[in-house]
Amino acid sequence: MIHKLKITFILILLVNSLFSFAEEGEKIVIVIIDGARYSETLGDTTRAYTPKMWEIADEGTMIDNFYNDGQTYTSRAIPALWCGAWTGVVDTIYEGHETQYSVLPSIFEYYRKDKNAPAEDCYYILKEIESLWLPSFDVDYGPDYWPTFNSVGETDEDVAEQALLVMEEHHPNFLWVYFADVDHEGHSGIWSNYIGAIKTADSLVGVLWNAIQTDPFYKDATTMLVTNDHGRHDDQHGGFSGHGDGCDGCRHIELLAIGPDIKKNFVSYQNRYTPDMAVTASHVMDIDPAKATGEAMMEIFAANGLANHAKSIATVKSVAPNPFGSNTRIQYTLSENSHVSLRIRDFSGKPIKELINGKETAGDKSVSWDGTNNSGLKVANGVYFYTLESNNNMISGKIIYLQDN
Ligand SMILES: [Zn+2]
Ligand SMILES: [Zn+2]
Repeated sequence: MIHKLKITFILILLVNSLFSFAEEGEKIVIVIIDGARYSETLGDTTRAYTPKMWEIADEGTMIDNFYNDGQTYTSRAIPALWCGAWTGVVDTIYEGHETQYSVLPSIFEYYRKDKNAPAEDCYYILKEIESLWLPSFDVDYGPDYWPTFNSVGETDEDVAEQALLVMEEHHPNFLWVYFADVDHEGHSGIWSNYIGAIKTADSLVGVLWNAIQTDPFYKDATTMLVTNDHGRHDDQHGGFSGHGDGCDGCRHIELLAIGPDIKKNFVSYQNRYTPDMAVTASHVMDIDPAKATGEAMMEIFAANGLANHAKSIATVKSVAPNPFGSNTRIQYTLSENSHVSLRIRDFSGKPIKELINGKETAGDKSVSWDGTNNSGLKVANGVYFYTLESNNNMISGKIIYLQDN
């Protein structure tokens, strides 16, 4: 009898620890920096303009291949970040102002409905804007579950100050902070102003993280995610003053995550996309983003890493030359015999060339790609990805093809 009780007790302990990061009391702070190009943030390994975010990245996780995979402008990318999906938006007049609402429900609505949380538990803080973009009127969610919009001040500093006030006075479990100045200064076309705004936003991310660490309500219970709605043109497509197309500069953005359940000092190279952010945040908060299309980025969670990710069988040693003009060689190692598929994909993830698909023995391997697709035709110049899938894992990385003249 005693023996049986003991086993039950151990089982309860086990179950509790398995679900520990889904417990009540988990808090989240999501920071959006509008229009910062990856090459000036965590894509710049000299750490010149974002020293604070680099410092935080050392204690958390950064995703090196995070992309806006839809429209690279704010009015569509921000709703996509909220909704965990590329949602349609509809023009409307709300409280006397022309604005838009999103068709799909937002993470705010999922959160408040699933948690039965009052409006004061979910804040959206941004500068003063007359006609705010609205979440959804979805029949299952809608205005009853919108966040408390707190639209005050003019600058990112004002917004951060307001966020600190709200944290101190209301202690919401869910805080969304939107910094607009980087995009604005980027459009000025003045490099020093753009860089100055990035440095400010970076320091404000540091201020928010420090505030979390010094408040017992938030400390050790809060996950912070920092990302962008879009980047800016790379220098081959018009440069930093504009954005809005599909160039790598516009698409490539940062995703920084830190918190009690997030891996420390970890860089993930798996491709991830705008809709994955809110779905991952939903996983942290243990809510169901029922109509979202993104995926939870399970690779960033420490618990998952221990439980599900056995040591990867395949590792990529090099891809060279990269960029390439006629031929590039992918070298990889298999630690065990495994089924392997190695494919080249275009930007949207569509496979365009199968290099390997079959059983392989353990050892060092290599395969080359000559820039042709499955029909033997040369592909267009641009950014491609390889994906190497083995029994238990997938690894991916970027290959740039620039045809030799
Ligand atoms: Zn803009
Ligand atoms: Zn562009």
